[in-house]
Amino acid sequence: HCNGSSQSSESFVNIPPIKFTKLFIDGNFVDSVSGKTFEAIDPRSGEAITRVSEGDKEDVDLAVKAARLAFDNGPWPRLSGSERGRILMKFADLIEQNIEELATLEAINGGKLFSLCKFMEVPGAAMTLRYYAGAADKIYGTVLKLSKGLQGYTLREPIGVVGAILPWNFPTTMFFIKAAPALAAGCTMVVKPAEQTPLSALYYAHLAKLAGIPDGVVNVVNGFGETAGAAISSHMDIDKVSFTGSTEVGRKIMMAAAASNLKRVSLELGGKSPLLIFDDADVDEAAKFAFDGIFTSKGEICVASSRIYVQEGIYDKIVNKLIEKANAWVVGDPFDPQVNQGPQTDKNQFEKILSYIEHGKREGATLLTGGNRIGQKGYYIQPTIFADVKEDMIIAKEEIFGPVMSLMKFKTMEEAIKRANDTTYGLAAGVITKDLNVANTVLRSIRAGVVWMNCYLLLDVGCPYGGYKMSGFGRENGMDSFNEYLQTKSVVTPIHDSPW
Ligand code: NAD
Repeated sequence: HCNGSSQSSESFVNIPPIKFTKLFIDGNFVDSVSGKTFEAIDPRSGEAITRVSEGDKEDVDLAVKAARLAFDNGPWPRLSGSERGRILMKFADLIEQNIEELATLEAINGGKLFSLCKFMEVPGAAMTLRYYAGAADKIYGTVLKLSKGLQGYTLREPIGVVGAILPWNFPTTMFFIKAAPALAAGCTMVVKPAEQTPLSALYYAHLAKLAGIPDGVVNVVNGFGETAGAAISSHMDIDKVSFTGSTEVGRKIMMAAAASNLKRVSLELGGKSPLLIFDDADVDEAAKFAFDGIFTSKGEICVASSRIYVQEGIYDKIVNKLIEKANAWVVGDPFDPQVNQGPQTDKNQFEKILSYIEHGKREGATLLTGGNRIGQKGYYIQPTIFADVKEDMIIAKEEIFGPVMSLMKFKTMEEAIKRANDTTYGLAAGVITKDLNVANTVLRSIRAGVVWMNCYLLLDVGCPYGGYKMSGFGRENGMDSFNEYLQTKSVVTPIHDSPW
């Protein structure tokens, strides 16, 4: 039952000593200029795992200086693409050789299932590196036939120094979704992990060096958003900032970019993604997509299916199935192989989710199951399902980023499309039906960057995703993302005395 196990982790895993806690600047682990440190927390208990160096503006300046020098004078952007690709392939191999330890770091600091970290997130990083390693030697422009007496061609060049500001929900995935295309393109980087999850990025910086990535190319500065993060978005010597996180902070980053050097910006922000289930759907399958779509990784997924629209003919059956699944769902220690859901990543987030649940109860939604924390220690929350949710309720409008599902009933396809689009977000959506005309009409009508047809949550490094509307702009994964780290230079030359 979802009251779950609360056994201590020690019975499931040996936590290795934490090796890297300092900042990584110009190829070395260093203390922050101020000497300050902050705690990395284990959300199973709320207790500290270790302390890590806290970077601020001065540290960002040092890291940018190193990244700038490595870009302007260093070998990395000047290597042949195949040579950069070879080094990134080695980086991928090193990740695979350390999977167990990396997955442990992610699970202990993020409260995420050890098995998912070990079999999906960390291997996914190696896959992402290999995808872009293979693209590094396939950078080419076009030949331009211009007006009479002119010819030209385009060069594709790396954009320069990239600042990457990361969220805490997938620290490994987010590191590589930005670093792999940026490095393959020949950029250099300053990465600021989220303050909740500072550990794995330092390990990756260490592996980058072992793989042969030159000093200064990858720098990691841990620290807080308003200090280290803001120093990146307002820096005069950073050429592009790539951000994943909340819409509110995305707006601040864009303003800081505008007010400083007009650096390029890509923003991967929140979502409130609808999943539409039609009467002809298979009940077991549809309930599984809906349930896993929101409860996987405790709902801390930007593309989570947080609004489930069910057609009236199948509604009761889906509801019963969802309750059955919630009752069988085990919340507990993420290292326990029997467990489906670990603790929320941090205390703020945990409290915010509980307050959204209270809003749902107060606004008159029907609480079908869950609705409370579990235990008195750690940040565990029951899988929570609200029915009879209305579009104007706070729980239907705002991103909760936790294990809370909102269920809504609809009659016609037109009505479902309209209600699904009634949101400021546009990150993802899903449609479950056997009728291809309905599926195709829905997926073309919904304004979102990715739409899943008869499935949900399936992402792949080859598949670009990103926001419509206030979910941001720019695409990650696929060749779209590679292009975000390149820019076009046109070369024009005259042909004298030519009739062509
Ligand atoms: P956040 O947006 O506050 O933090 C994300 C990153 O931005 C962190 O590294 C943080 O240090 C940094 N940051 C914060 N303020 C900054 C500033 N002024 N300038 C520059 N950088 C700054 O996210 P959060 O508070 O950790 O989570 C809040 C909400 O964000 C969640 O409830 C969820 O809605 C959303 N979120 C979305 C994603 C996603 O994948 N799209 C991931 C995490 C969180």
